[in-house]
Amino acid sequence: MADMIVAGNWKMNASKSAVTQLLSGLKRACVNGVEMIVFPPFPYLAQVQQELAATSIRIGVQNICAADKGAYTGEVSLSMAREFGVSYVLVGHSERRAIYAEDNAQVAAKYIATQAAQLTPILCVGETLAEREQGLTMAVVTAQVQAVVEAAGADSFANAVIAYEPVWAIGTGLTASPEQAQTVHQAIREHVSKVAPAQAQGLKILYGGSVTAASAAELFAQEDIDGGLVGGASLQAESFLAIGQAAQ
Ligand code: PEP
Repeated sequence: MADMIVAGNWKMNASKSAVTQLLSGLKRACVNGVEMIVFPPFPYLAQVQQELAATSIRIGVQNICAADKGAYTGEVSLSMAREFGVSYVLVGHSERRAIYAEDNAQVAAKYIATQAAQLTPILCVGETLAEREQGLTMAVVTAQVQAVVEAAGADSFANAVIAYEPVWAIGTGLTASPEQAQTVHQAIREHVSKVAPAQAQGLKILYGGSVTAASAAELFAQEDIDGGLVGGASLQAESFLAIGQAAQ
């Protein structure tokens, strides 16, 4: 895995023509030395796999079912995702936690299933604005990490990425300042180092929350920020690639 990671979460934004346009922009440029990952909606996985085959851009999915197969109407399994060249799985995105009521136990089950399928989970954690205002940021974030430590074991961080995404910064245009983000990233790394000292140093911790080409470089310059998880700005090839270049 490269030193820096830039991951683009397309969320439920796409159409055949928009995907074709975005992929043609992504294929035209390459960002050396940075792990670039796209997370398309499921229906576009085949197209993405085919069109990015000759590039170094990796593919992830935004959600997954922890079960392998069977009577789970509407769900998609890890073995299906693997058939489309998927390497990464987002688990615990705040939209899944808030809109679909995914709790820490479900998030941990998806994380464990992802690793069992030899894929890499990107565990998303982050506090709401109310929690930040009450001074609960560190407590919330470390509890979300600790829930995975207890379910999956501390050693599991050898094959995982963490994304710190303050809920109040996602899709709002409000970005945590580099100092605010660095403080939380450092606390996450320290928490992991208490339970998994061997894994903490190499653990990639991404920042997410309204990252743009303009804000990326300063965020990525922080010691404990190892790249970004990008929503809105990943929908245009130009801005996504510019964020990748900032990570270089
Ligand atoms: C996200 O979806 O994880 C995200 C950070 O979105 P945005 O960049 O649009 O805030």
